[in-house]
Amino acid sequence: MLKAVYPGSFDPVTNGHIDIMERCSGFVEELIVAVLDNPAKNSLFTVDERVQQLKEVTKHMPNVKVKSFYGLLVDFCRQVDAKLVIRGLRAVTDFEYEFKMALGNKKLDDNIETIFISSSTKYMFISSSSIKEIAMFGGSVDDMVPPYIKDQLTEKFNSREEI
Ligand code: ADP
Repeated sequence: MLKAVYPGSFDPVTNGHIDIMERCSGFVEELIVAVLDNPAKNSLFTVDERVQQLKEVTKHMPNVKVKSFYGLLVDFCRQVDAKLVIRGLRAVTDFEYEFKMALGNKKLDDNIETIFISSSTKYMFISSSSIKEIAMFGGSVDDMVPPYIKDQLTEKFNSREEI
């Protein structure tokens, strides 16, 4: 069974991520979207919130599963018995970082391969960090995230203002 892991922070998930998942779910039998639990990163949404959001926006893809992981990606891949890692590439600027990570993972476990999928042109400029910035200042993120995520962003920033 061809099983792949698509790891990331997904803080929050964007239409660019969903596009990669949709394209990927067409050629693997199971795609595990893996939310990295990294306490060192200052995230807007908790891991549980991100997992729940991802489950909601991937409901239309029956072969997509959502899990969180802590620690090394290669350990997680072994745990779920997947030998393929999927990463998205938006521009050349993503390449160096992604290439280094892929080589690092290959060194840790030679059985695990990383496959890069290029972003669709319309999503090339989308990143979770720019979306958070736009939403924080009340800008429209309509074409960048699903309506459900837009509502979650509004809710999060409203609750922060109340503090
Ligand atoms: P990380 O913190 O690991 O970079 P992200 O959640 O930002 O996690 O991204 C997860 C993966 O999705 C990465 O491979 C990233 O390059 C890719 N990605 C992010 N935004 C897009 C996009 N708009 N189109 C295609 N791939 C993307």
